[in-house]
Amino acid sequence: MVKRFEVLILGGGSGGISVASRLVRVLGSGSVGIVEPSDTHFYQPLWSLVGAGQAKKEESAKPMSQVIPQGAEWIRDSVVKVLPEQNQVLLKGGDTLAYEFLVVATGLQLNWEKIPGIAGRIGQSGICSIYEYHQAERTFQMFREFQGGDAYFIMPPVPIKCAGAPQKIMYLFDDLMRQWGRRDQVRITYVTASQAIFGIPVFAQALERIRQEKNITVWFGHRLEQVDPDQRTVTFIVTSPSGLVERKTVKYDLLHVVPTQSAHQYVIESGLAHEEGDHKGWLAVDKYTLQHFRFGNIFGIGDVTGIPNAKTGAAIRKQAPGVVENILRVKKGLAPKPFYDGYSSCPLVVGIGKVILAEFGYDGKLMPTFPINPAVPRRSFWFLKKYLLPQLYWKGMLRGLA
Ligand code: FAD
Repeated sequence: MVKRFEVLILGGGSGGISVASRLVRVLGSGSVGIVEPSDTHFYQPLWSLVGAGQAKKEESAKPMSQVIPQGAEWIRDSVVKVLPEQNQVLLKGGDTLAYEFLVVATGLQLNWEKIPGIAGRIGQSGICSIYEYHQAERTFQMFREFQGGDAYFIMPPVPIKCAGAPQKIMYLFDDLMRQWGRRDQVRITYVTASQAIFGIPVFAQALERIRQEKNITVWFGHRLEQVDPDQRTVTFIVTSPSGLVERKTVKYDLLHVVPTQSAHQYVIESGLAHEEGDHKGWLAVDKYTLQHFRFGNIFGIGDVTGIPNAKTGAAIRKQAPGVVENILRVKKGLAPKPFYDGYSSCPLVVGIGKVILAEFGYDGKLMPTFPINPAVPRRSFWFLKKYLLPQLYWKGMLRGLA
């Protein structure tokens, strides 16, 4: 017999657990199921600090069993397909589940395979990345071992989760090199596929000043094509503002890589993704209600959604209460309420002890929580990022309280 849930949640990450905790309180035990294959839940924002030896990787992980809310059922499996017309989900293990409402919260995938040469070489041959749990710690080891030369920090085309992270780790690297007396032996280059250092002008101007003060070079319009770890070379496809395209290969000594990112394939294969436009391939939900465009009993939350916001945990903090309210409204036969204004926040770490708190919504609208100039690096925001936000996450947001 096919097991049926009032609400079935796909993914037990930041979005899935935040929504589950709130729903269980309202709907009661046994009504909510969470499909999640991983034994461990990660607080990924800490990985920028782990990569620079400013936090322990273990602080960013907890057993999944500890974050699944009491009363919700954990189905330890992966989704392979959603059958939205039948209100059913097919699992990798062969089981089928049925739902009244579905919340898609499977985040995104890192497309490492799109970078020829890199498979199995991260953590070796000068290649590092804070985008994976174990590699974040290894990144710090590689920084410590680094004796000088050319260090490149790659920013792929957006959307990616926390678009500030490839820069944060670079500024921390710069600070560490200064602390260790090696900065003179290093040339640092930020290599971005975009034509600006950050998407919001006021923060871009602040970051531009900081980059110049730190003597960091920037290359715009460079898209990583391939890496040759044996020769320690990296090749980019370079597009000039006038549209001229050429290929450029350079030697590297340290390469911090972030791959392109996309929603999981099942989202597309289940007919749940945008089929064209800027958000092609991402979950097709309304940007204000987070309800699916075609299936009224499906909602999305977090990185998987195809909406014009910045993919962060902070966005999820704002999305979770509204998604829950909208599920309950639709359950009662009411229309979903537009609630989400695109809020997202990125604590831009620009050095050890220094953070710019970038908070903004749709169309780049600034949405500062504190009545002070948000583009100024502050020590108080470092404490917020390093100590307060992790507590708020584990004790508040995941329990449906923040
Ligand atoms: P996730 O938390 O990634 O969870 C997705 C879950 O879905 C996972 O548990 C996964 O196992 C599961 N899953 C995947 N596929 C399937 C499947 N087929 N079936 C079932 N389950 C599946 N955010 C901030 O707010 N501030 C920051 O400073 C910040 N810094 C960051 C730094 C780094 C280096 C990184 C990597 C991220 C950072 N983020 C930051 C972003 C933030 O971590 C993400 O936006 C957030 O975790 C997204 O939550 P989610 O629930 O959408 O996805």
